[in-house]
Amino acid sequence: MKLVLASHNQGKLAELRAILEPAVADLELIGYDGPEPVEDGVSYLENALIKARAAAKHTGLPAIADDSGLAVEILGGSPGIFSARWAGGRDNVENRRLLLKQLGDVKPEHRGAAFVCTIALVDGDDEISFTGFWAGSIGFEERGNNGHGYDPVFVPSGFEVTAAELEPEVKNALSHRAEAVSQLISYLNA
Ligand code: IMP
Repeated sequence: MKLVLASHNQGKLAELRAILEPAVADLELIGYDGPEPVEDGVSYLENALIKARAAAKHTGLPAIADDSGLAVEILGGSPGIFSARWAGGRDNVENRRLLLKQLGDVKPEHRGAAFVCTIALVDGDDEISFTGFWAGSIGFEERGNNGHGYDPVFVPSGFEVTAAELEPEVKNALSHRAEAVSQLISYLNA
């Protein structure tokens, strides 16, 4: 079975291929270089569906797309779908700086947050989605050099270090993305 990953990101393709192909018999995950739709949905699911539908339509093959972000409890779930551009541009350093400023000296017990990842699978008229969460809290400063995005300010539940201080293998086993991918694998194998 051929499955298209609705993303122009070659790194994402390689990473996901390494997880999916050994886990699902006869699966071939292929890249997508067709037109990219405007992501104007108002939820992770809508945005993932917009991308997966566009790739499925363009290629005539089943397609998957993911959308993810960071939901901070005291900010009512923001930055959420605006995570990548929270400070205006696509600058992770600025995004983290703004988030830490917004939380200011809010107490540790009120700094709860979760990473969220939704994967949409579109196969003709069939549409299904899988969502994973990674619970934790926002620290008071940046720590660690691994990872990307908000990892240096996110302290996963059960840890005292940030996601950017974890070994990549540990993050890849626990993360919101890992959970969504694992649900997708179970679905494809059912
Ligand atoms: P995307 O949907 O995968 O492009 O992610 C959107 C944004 O959410 C990213 O630009 C990051 O700011 C944030 N994000 C999503 N997943 C992670 C993660 O695992 N670590 C840190 N930031 C993340």
